[in-house]
Amino acid sequence: MPRTILHLDLDAFYCSVEEVENPELKGKPFAVGGKPNERGVVASCSYAARAKGVRSAMPMSKAIQLCRDLIIVSGRHKLYSEYSEHVMSKLRNLTPLVEQISIDEAFLDISNLDEDPTRLALDLQADIRVELQLPSSIGIASNKLVAKIATEVGKKSNKIKDMPPFGFTIVPVGKEAEFLSPLPANMLWGVGPKTYARLSELGIKTIGDIAQWPQKELINL
Ligand SMILES: [Mg+2]
Repeated sequence: MPRTILHLDLDAFYCSVEEVENPELKGKPFAVGGKPNERGVVASCSYAARAKGVRSAMPMSKAIQLCRDLIIVSGRHKLYSEYSEHVMSKLRNLTPLVEQISIDEAFLDISNLDEDPTRLALDLQADIRVELQLPSSIGIASNKLVAKIATEVGKKSNKIKDMPPFGFTIVPVGKEAEFLSPLPANMLWGVGPKTYARLSELGIKTIGDIAQWPQKELINL
């Protein structure tokens, strides 16, 4: 029997928490992180800031250049942990098979639950949005790797530029290769900038290109 794995990732988590605590920030370009004159970096940025090119891990000084009216908010990690714990306890109420992989991300093995996976996922997303006022994206697939990539695909397909994506992507059993094949190689877990550059040199652009190369050659490379 194939497994059903649900991956959940909260959208712009630190910023979303700050918006709950301070609704005046809603819709504004802001970033959680360190001050630009103290070599601070962007830990999380709102969707209005993303629309201007601001990204996580960017130096705050660069973020300010891209977005002159950027509001800088100091991180409150204890608060984020509390919100995270609320979300994780909701997940553990569904199943004990929860693997938390970061403060705002987890896998759930929902294979043995009676509820329809789509129904369960949409209810969970709505519950987190209504009760905790947090946006999240979900991917469902037959394994963790594909479920996580499904979440990313959902986030990237967001049409409304300065709103959270609320992604929801389901990859049916047997459709994994077809789903992965056209995606850029760097969407594969573990392919960072260096590996991606090396793959590009070899003419490998997509995950499908990787799959077509003989395994032995890839290992040697
Ligand atoms: Mg996240």
